Amino acid sequence: MKASRRSFLSVAIGAVALPGSLPAHSVAVSHDSSFDPWVEVHRDNLLSNVREIGKRVSARPVLAVIKNNGYGLGLVNVARMLEPLSAIEGFAVVKFQEAIALRDAGIKKPVLLMGPFGESEMREAVVRRIMPMVYTPVGALLDRAGRSRGLAVPIHVCIDTGIGRVGVPHSEAAALIRQLTSYKSIRIKGTMMTFSEDAEFDKEQLRRFQLLHRALEEEGIALGRKHAASSFALFQRPDSFLDMVRPGMAMYGIYSEQEFRRAAVMDLKPAVSLKARVAYVKRLRKGESAGYNRVYIAKKDDVWIATLPVGHSDGLPRVAVKGARVRINGNLYPLIASVSASHSIVEIGPEPLVMIGDVATIFDWLDGSRPEDFAASCGASVYDLTMHLNPLLPRRVIV
Ligand SMILES: *Cc1c(COP(=O)(O)O)cnc(C)c1O
Repeated sequence: MKASRRSFLSVAIGAVALPGSLPAHSVAVSHDSSFDPWVEVHRDNLLSNVREIGKRVSARPVLAVIKNNGYGLGLVNVARMLEPLSAIEGFAVVKFQEAIALRDAGIKKPVLLMGPFGESEMREAVVRRIMPMVYTPVGALLDRAGRSRGLAVPIHVCIDTGIGRVGVPHSEAAALIRQLTSYKSIRIKGTMMTFSEDAEFDKEQLRRFQLLHRALEEEGIALGRKHAASSFALFQRPDSFLDMVRPGMAMYGIYSEQEFRRAAVMDLKPAVSLKARVAYVKRLRKGESAGYNRVYIAKKDDVWIATLPVGHSDGLPRVAVKGARVRINGNLYPLIASVSASHSIVEIGPEPLVMIGDVATIFDWLDGSRPEDFAASCGASVYDLTMHLNPLLPRRVIV
């Protein structure tokens, strides 16, 4: 398919003129409609990362965090690829609509809803076997939803041991849990916490979590699977692996910190790429400008530039012009001027070395450009990179 598109394009462009002889403002029109940027998903890498995590955690079950459109890879894509693996216990999302979308797509494994919900969502969740994460006194509400359908209501209780976000404060958790267990239809399938990722304080958080467990277990209260470890803890805190781990980023093959990559505790391979095709190539005469506010000016000489039809609304960070480069035909070119909503501009140099239709790789493991490096090159956070990929971009799963 790639070959045929290439040959089509060279025919289309050849009909106008060869790139070397293109005048400054020439246009070669292609009737191929696939100029939309796209996301590639490397299935084998995703599966390999899950195996790496399995080794690291001595085969403990993995609750796969696939919130925010599967970190950009595509919610249902990721769930379908992971569901057959025995290592995958289930899935965790934050938005109610994502939980529903998983069931609509036929995903059968447990789904944990880590985000808030109202009463009508709760009734739907019970029917669709979506487990809520609970940290407020909603026992009566859940019990009512369960009993009206004759269904048990499995839940995970979220304990705030110091992150100060959601979760019942650890000092009030025992009372809430006792109350929740007094309802007939409620089943506590798990208790969970989130680290603040401060090396010293994490220890204290884990101690609080374990103290709570001990106290409740002495009362004979079963707390289900205990889980705390996100990607960060997979690297830093083997003592927090407990009964299950809860990674996101590491599964997608991305090191959340550069030091984790150097430490080589796990060999992670990025499972997500962003690509686009050159939409336009032109020469700027010396003194001409590119971008809003004329932010880029061809100061010294004439320069060839290429426009990519990918912008910040697609997930390309605005800061990409502060040092990031894209690869076209094997060469790296800097992003220049400004990233607008749907476009970005690449500086090619004194020669027109690229053509309309050429593939531009923003980041792709196969080309040796990891999302971590792309983010680092322009001072972006890698968490802002993949999770901001526009859900409407096509996802091409490479198998
Ligand atoms: C997002 C999230 C995770 C996964 O975090 P990563 O850093 O991507 O591994 C785990 N737990 C909770 C509660 C989360 O919101």
